[in-house]
Amino acid sequence: MTNAPQTSASTNNGPALAVCWSCKGPVAWGALFCDTCKAVQPPVPLDHFARLGLKRDFDIKVPVLDQLYFGFQRQLHPDRFAAAAPKAKQISQSQAVAFNDAYETLKDPLTRAAYLLDLLGEKVEGEGAHTIADEELLMEQLERREALMEADNPAAVEAIARHAKVDAEAALSALASDFASGDKIAAKRGYLRLKYLVKLGEEARARRARLTLAR
Ligand SMILES: [Zn+2]
Repeated sequence: MTNAPQTSASTNNGPALAVCWSCKGPVAWGALFCDTCKAVQPPVPLDHFARLGLKRDFDIKVPVLDQLYFGFQRQLHPDRFAAAAPKAKQISQSQAVAFNDAYETLKDPLTRAAYLLDLLGEKVEGEGAHTIADEELLMEQLERREALMEADNPAAVEAIARHAKVDAEAALSALASDFASGDKIAAKRGYLRLKYLVKLGEEARARRARLTLAR
């Protein structure tokens, strides 16, 4: 198969055609199924946005994301592969995993922001993450955490939780604007702020539950 057409004739923008593992005929690069023999095709390296057919953009409509994702998962449902060859079964499972991974990453604004920043070369999570020395952000974080630790009744904790929620909503829309205007540094800072506000809200809920039980 050394002379098999691996790519389309025209461009250097990446191969537009691949070879179907089953019938060995040409198949559109990234297609889920071969048009000729209908065999499921293995996942190709694509970012999560492209895999789901979305523009690389922070501003995702969750119902659209859901619709795309569940559409793919329906096509990959195990029932459809009950009678398929083991190889097709295994490929359909790796496709399902790839779509699931994309969906889980993009559906939550925080993981979506971290992923998008990573794609933009501003890694914020995991190994090699860029840190940010932002005094203002750190001070805000420390003050809020201290206030939470000092809140000794459910109503006081509730007020902190509410405040965090309102601020998290504002931080989320600011983050969307920063991505929309292409300001990576502001988006990175916005991501870190949103992340701690979400975490603070979770901690406040846990503390409120403890205080309520203690009464
Ligand atoms: Zn085929």
